[in-house]
Amino acid sequence: MRPSYLIKPALDESYPEIDYGKGTYLFDKDGKKYLDAASGAVTANIGHGVPEIILAMHEQSKRVSFVYRSQFTSEAAEKLAEKLSDSLPGDLNWSFFVNSGSEATETALKIAIQYWQEKGVKSKTKILSRWVSYHGITLGALSMSGHPGRRARFVPLLEEFPTISPPYCYRCPYQKSAPDCGYLCAKELEGAIKRIGADHIAAFIAEPVIGAAGGAISPPEGYYETIKKICDDNNILFIADEVMTGFGRTGPMLAMEHWNVIPDIVALGKGMGAGYAPIAATVVSDHVMEPILKGSKVIMSGHTLSANPQSCAAALAVLQYLEDNQILNDVESKSVYLKNRLDQVKNKFSFIGDVRGKGLLLGLEFVKLPASKIPFDQSVKLTELVVKTGREHGILLYPAGAGLDGLSGDAVIIAPPLTITKREIDELIALLKTTFIEVYKTLGL
Ligand code: PLP
Repeated sequence: MRPSYLIKPALDESYPEIDYGKGTYLFDKDGKKYLDAASGAVTANIGHGVPEIILAMHEQSKRVSFVYRSQFTSEAAEKLAEKLSDSLPGDLNWSFFVNSGSEATETALKIAIQYWQEKGVKSKTKILSRWVSYHGITLGALSMSGHPGRRARFVPLLEEFPTISPPYCYRCPYQKSAPDCGYLCAKELEGAIKRIGADHIAAFIAEPVIGAAGGAISPPEGYYETIKKICDDNNILFIADEVMTGFGRTGPMLAMEHWNVIPDIVALGKGMGAGYAPIAATVVSDHVMEPILKGSKVIMSGHTLSANPQSCAAALAVLQYLEDNQILNDVESKSVYLKNRLDQVKNKFSFIGDVRGKGLLLGLEFVKLPASKIPFDQSVKLTELVVKTGREHGILLYPAGAGLDGLSGDAVIIAPPLTITKREIDELIALLKTTFIEVYKTLGL
């Protein structure tokens, strides 16, 4: 066995080595071309090898690559904070920079608890969340994640935070349809608050569109309005985990803008550095910062590389690129085009049970029997098979969980760079069909 870094899934020896990326494509050492239909991990939002970002990082590195945030600030960090505040809705004006989505949600958890403590309320320490969710891999973030598979090994170390059902209309736990359902899944939050006591709850956290745990599950209209009202009525902060959905992945800068809901705290990551640099942020609204600024004045968190100038310069250049090229204006029309094409693919392959999502964060859920929505036996490892077959045929897909436990079903996310062209979408669809034909052959269907 040759030495390797320990992040390759199952240390798969056949993993191709990528040589370079350009736009929507990656190229491996053997010259094989891959259409990146997942932006890596829903991260490379503006595609690969964009010269403007590379230049901005180069210019920053010529000046300074690192300053310690407890002693200095930098032009890049200041400008990024200012531009973020201008780009985000409402009074989301205070950015705390970190290095990963997990750190961003974990910091959101800490800020929510600190907010109540600064107001003299010490008992509000729980964060409620939903099943079929993923908020990150560190222990605080994992505590908030309703993802049994990722929690399993560490359960003794985790808080029992996830409490309510997801807005998973394809598998509605109440077997009803929106809006006639009366948003029973959202109203579970009221029941949970009564049971636990609002005095003990600092915040509720949710991914606007459920990503890794559910395969791009988008809620029905009216869902988040109901959730936000319940939070407000019960003195509970609302944290939007926009690590996957933020930075225009679904069209607007925040997915929550689709529903005119302004969160109290937002976690950003992935598309923020767009894969060019590790950077994420917890963005806090004025009204949440107020008691902190009147009180201890410091956020009780931070990392050595928080607000790293090199990463801030990359994120700033990404924001500028989105703006200069008006990338977000076209997300909706590209989404409609891609979704229609995926619906056509669904009609040809009976194992596609559902096509869903928002903007360019779309998902396919696979089922053995479409009429009864019965999933494949997990021993088939269908998601793994689809992703692997796709890679062999030159298309990169993002594996996701599915099912009401986020474990017993199969799904993939299709989330190409926002810069994808219509011609490339057509190519994506053709590669997807080839992949599915091959998967059918393997399954003997
Ligand atoms: N939150 C959401 C919604 C995510 O999708 C992810 C990662 O997939 C995270 C948090 C964790 O981000 P990271 O992997 O950068 O730690």
